[in-house]
Amino acid sequence: MLAQEIIRTKRDGHALSDAQIQQFVLGLVDGSWSEGQIAALGMAVFLRGMGPKECISLTQAMMHSGRVMHWTDMGGPVLDKHSSGGVGDKVSLMLAPMVAACGGYVPMISGRGLGHTGGTCDKLESIPGYNTAPTNTEFDCVVRSVGCAVIGQTADLAPADKRFYATRDVTATVESIPLITASILSKKLAAGLHGLVMDVKCGNGAFAESLVMAQDLAHSIVGVAEGAGLKTTALITDMNQVLGSCVGNALEVGEAIRYLAGANNLCNRDARQHEIVLALGAEMLILGGIAKDADAARLQLLSALNSGAAAEHFARMVAALGGPCDLMEKPGFYLASAPVVTPVPAPQSGRICALQTRAVGMAVVELGGGRAKEGDVLDLRVGLTQVLPLGATVLAGDPLAFVHAADSASALRCIAQFQAACSIAEDPGAWRATPCLIERISQSDYGP
Ligand code: URA
Repeated sequence: MLAQEIIRTKRDGHALSDAQIQQFVLGLVDGSWSEGQIAALGMAVFLRGMGPKECISLTQAMMHSGRVMHWTDMGGPVLDKHSSGGVGDKVSLMLAPMVAACGGYVPMISGRGLGHTGGTCDKLESIPGYNTAPTNTEFDCVVRSVGCAVIGQTADLAPADKRFYATRDVTATVESIPLITASILSKKLAAGLHGLVMDVKCGNGAFAESLVMAQDLAHSIVGVAEGAGLKTTALITDMNQVLGSCVGNALEVGEAIRYLAGANNLCNRDARQHEIVLALGAEMLILGGIAKDADAARLQLLSALNSGAAAEHFARMVAALGGPCDLMEKPGFYLASAPVVTPVPAPQSGRICALQTRAVGMAVVELGGGRAKEGDVLDLRVGLTQVLPLGATVLAGDPLAFVHAADSASALRCIAQFQAACSIAEDPGAWRATPCLIERISQSDYGP
C-alpha cells in the first residue's frame, strides 16, 4: 500500500491495520517514507488519535525495528523506572542502585534533557570518565556484575522511534498520548524488561499539567504495556515544585550522592523526594516479586539505603562504567563547580505558596544547564541549590535558593527569573501543598 493511502486512512479518522502500521515502521527505518510523509502521519495521529489496539501494534512494531535485549540466566527480575520528566528529577540515580541492592537488575537506558526538563544521561556525564555509551557487551556485563547500569540511548534499540521522534519534535506532534506511549514503551520492551514502573509527573513543571492529562497518559501506558506483555504500574506524582533541593546536572548528582551516602542522617533526604523514591522503588520490588507488599518493600529499600548497600552499588556502577573509584568519598573533588555562587533573596516576607516550576527549569536551561537547540554543549556545573520547598516561610532578603552560574551576568538573570517564578504571600490563608503521591494505576485496574 502507498504511504499516502495509509496517511489518508488516519486522516479520515479510521483505525490503521497491523499491516499498515508495520509498513509505516519499516518506512521509518529503511528510509522509504519521506520526512513529509512521516510528519503527515504523525499529525494525523495527533489530531485523530489511536485506539489501544493500534497503539499496541505501533509499540510492538517500533520495538522490533532494532535489537531486542534478552536477559537470560539472571539471579533476579529485570526492572526499570521511567519518568515523564520534571525539574530536579534525579530519582533514577537513587533508585537504580537501591533496587539493585535489593536483588533486582536495572538496565536503565536514560534520556537527555528535553525542553525545561533535565535528563539522567546528561547528569551522569558530569562524572569524569563515566561512559554513558558502553558497548552492548560492557552494558550487559555491568548489569550482571553490579546489578544496575544507567546509560544513554543506544542507536540499535527501537531505531524507528528515534527517527519518528526527531520528526515529531520539529512538527509539533510530541504531545500526543498514543505517540508518547508507543515511543516510551517500544524502547522499554526492546530493553527486555520483566517489569516497569512509570512515574507520570503532573503539574506546572511537567509535560502533563492537568491531572486529567496525567491520568490519560498513565492509563494509556499501563494498558498498552499490558497488551504488549510488560508488567507495568504507574504512579502520578506532583511536579508543582522542584523535586528535592537541587536542579542542574552536577549539582543533582551531588544531591543523589548525599542521599545515598546519608545513612541514618535524614537531613540529607528531602522528605518529598524520599517519599517518591520509596514509592517507586516499592512498586519495582513488588512487580519483580522481591517484596510481597508495599510495607515489606519499603523496609527492604530503607535497609539498602541505611546499611550503605545502595551507596556501594552506585559506587561500583560508576567505577565499572569508567568513573572514579572514590566518587562517593570525594564528590566535591570530582564534580565540577561553577565559579559564581550567589543567593536568590526573597523580595518580601511571607510564605512561598506557588512556584512556576517550568520557568525555573527554563532558567537553568538559560544558565547553560540544558539545550536551547539540538547539539548545544551543556555547562554541567550550573543550576540551583537549597531551593526552598513550597510552604516555607521567609523574611525579605532570606535566600530562596542559591544560583550556580558561569558568570555574574547569567547569575543576575537567573536571580530575577527565580524571583519572578516564586509567589510569596504574606497571608496565604488555608494554603496546602499538593501531596507528592497523587494516584496509582496498576494493571489489575483493568480486570482479568
Ligand atoms: N519521551 C519519549 O521517549 N518519547 C516521547 O514521545 C515523549 C517523551
